[in-house]
Amino acid sequence: MALLPFLNRRSLIRSGLGAGVMAASWPLHAAWPRNVDANPRLPDYPFTLGVASGDPAPDGFVIWTRLAPRPAEQHYGMARAPVIVGWEIAADDNFTTILTKGEALASPELAHSVHVDVTGLAPDRIYFYRFHIAGHTSTIGRSRTLPMPGARVDRLRFAVAGCQHYEHGYYTAWQHIAQEPVDFVFHYGDYIYETNEKGADTLTIQDHPFPRARRHNNDEPYSLDDYRQRYAQYKSDPHLQAAHAAAPFWLSFDDHEVDNDWADKWDQDGTPPEVFLFRRAAAFQAYYEHMPLRRSAMPDGTHMHMFRGAQYGDLMNTFILDTRQYRSDQIGEDARLPGGEKLSRMVPEAASPSRTIMGAPQEAWLFDGLSRSSARWNLIAHQVMLMHLTMRGKDGSKGYNMDRWSGYLDSRRRLLNHIDKACPGNVVTVSGDAHRHYAGDVIHDEQAPGARRKIITTEFLGTSISSGSDGMGDLNAAAQMADNPCLKATIDRRGYVLCDVDRDAFHTDLKVIDRVTVPDGAVSSFARFSVERGKPGVQKG
Ligand code: FE
Ligand code: CA
Repeated sequence: MALLPFLNRRSLIRSGLGAGVMAASWPLHAAWPRNVDANPRLPDYPFTLGVASGDPAPDGFVIWTRLAPRPAEQHYGMARAPVIVGWEIAADDNFTTILTKGEALASPELAHSVHVDVTGLAPDRIYFYRFHIAGHTSTIGRSRTLPMPGARVDRLRFAVAGCQHYEHGYYTAWQHIAQEPVDFVFHYGDYIYETNEKGADTLTIQDHPFPRARRHNNDEPYSLDDYRQRYAQYKSDPHLQAAHAAAPFWLSFDDHEVDNDWADKWDQDGTPPEVFLFRRAAAFQAYYEHMPLRRSAMPDGTHMHMFRGAQYGDLMNTFILDTRQYRSDQIGEDARLPGGEKLSRMVPEAASPSRTIMGAPQEAWLFDGLSRSSARWNLIAHQVMLMHLTMRGKDGSKGYNMDRWSGYLDSRRRLLNHIDKACPGNVVTVSGDAHRHYAGDVIHDEQAPGARRKIITTEFLGTSISSGSDGMGDLNAAAQMADNPCLKATIDRRGYVLCDVDRDAFHTDLKVIDRVTVPDGAVSSFARFSVERGKPGVQKG
C-alpha cells in the first residue's frame, strides 16, 4: 500500500502549521480520497487560468485556482483523478516569510478547481498567495483581510465592474483596474455571456456596426462541460487574470452566467421550469468552480447561496445581493428602444405586493442588517438598476425596463421605505447590467401622482468591461436626462466605477475607455461625483 505513507505525510504537514496560524483547506480535516494521484504528470503549465481571491474576512479570505494545462481541450489536459495542490501565504511578494501554507484537493468533480478558505491571518493587512503542483508554481496573487468589525477605518477604495462579453471587446478596463489602488472589486455579474454574436468581422450592436474583437470557441452552453469551456476561455484573458491577482473580489452573478433574463426557475424562452433547472444547476456549478467563493456558496442541487455581507470596520457595511435567483418572473415585453434595449409599457401588476426581486428571506436579512448597522456608510451592491427610469421607444412612447427594479416596484418601495427609516443619508447603491454609466438620485415614488420627490439614496451604475463594444457615446443621453430629472449623468462607453470612501464623503470616478475593439485603449475620467454623508443624492466633483 504505497498510498498510506503518503497520506501520513500529508496529515503531518497539515497538522504542522505554525503556532498561532490556522489554515483550513477543503475538505476540512478529511483524509484525501483513495484515488488521489500523488505524482501527477502534467503535460503543460497547469495554472493557465490564473489565481484569484475573494470574500475577505478579518482573519482570511478565499484563494482560488484551477488546474487546466490545456484549457480548450476536453478534460483540459488533466487525468481523471483528484490531485493535491500546495498553497502558501506570505507577507511579501518574494515569499521570504511564509506565514501559513497547506494543501488542498483538486477534484475532477469540480473541474480540478481549488478553493481554500484561509484563516488565522491578521486583520486589515495585505497578503500574497501562490499555488504549487508537480514542480509548477502559479503566478502570485495579492489579497487583503478585512479590518475588525467596528475598528476605525478612514478610507476605503474599490472598483465596481462587470458585463464582460468576450466577443464585444478587449478587457482593457480590467487592465486598468489591475493598476488601481483598490481594497476590493465588486463584480455585478455577466462574468460570461452564454450568447454567441452573429457576423463574421462585424457585430451589429444597438443597430450600429462594430468590428468583432474576438470569438467564443464553443456554441451556446447548456451542459456543465459547455459552461466550463466558456469560463476557461474568459479566464484565459491576461487582463482579467491581472485584476483578480491584484485584489480580492466580491462576486455576484446576474443573468448571462446562466441565460439572458432568467428569473428564478424561468428562462426567457418558456422552457419548462423543471427542465430549465438542469441548465441552471450546470451553470451554477461552473460558476462556483471558477470563482473565489466560500464553501457556503457551493451549489446545493440547483441552488447556491450568494447574498452576503461584509463589514469594513466602522466605515462601511456592504450588502451583496442576489436579485436573480429568488425573483418573480418578468412581466410583459413589447417594444425596443432605438438603441435596441428592451422596454415595456408599465402595467399595474409591476407594483403588485406579491412580486419580489429579492425573495422574503433575503429582504429580511438586508433590512435587519441595515437596521442594526452603525457604520458610517452602507453599500448595497447589486445587479440591476434601482432608479426607476422612463425610457422611450422608437415611436417616442414611454416604457420601462421590466428586468430591473422597475418591474418589481413594491420591492423597490419597501427597500426605499426601509432605508429612509433605518439609515437615512448613509446608503449608497452600486449596480450594473445597463452597459452604460448612470449616476443619479434614487427618488421615492417618483412616478406616483402627487408623490413626494424625496431623495432616499444614490445609485452609481457601472457600465461594462466590454459588452456593447466601443459604444455610442452620448446617444440618448440628453433625452434620458430630460425625461428623468433624477439622472445626473449617463454615457455609453466601456469602463468601470472607482469609489473612494472617507468618513464624510463617498467619491466616485466614472472611468471610460475610448475603444475596446482594439487592445490598449485609453482610459479617462468621464465624470466625478460625490455623496455627502447625511445628504443622499449625487453632487458634482
Ligand atoms: Fe451585461
Ligand atoms: Ca445582465
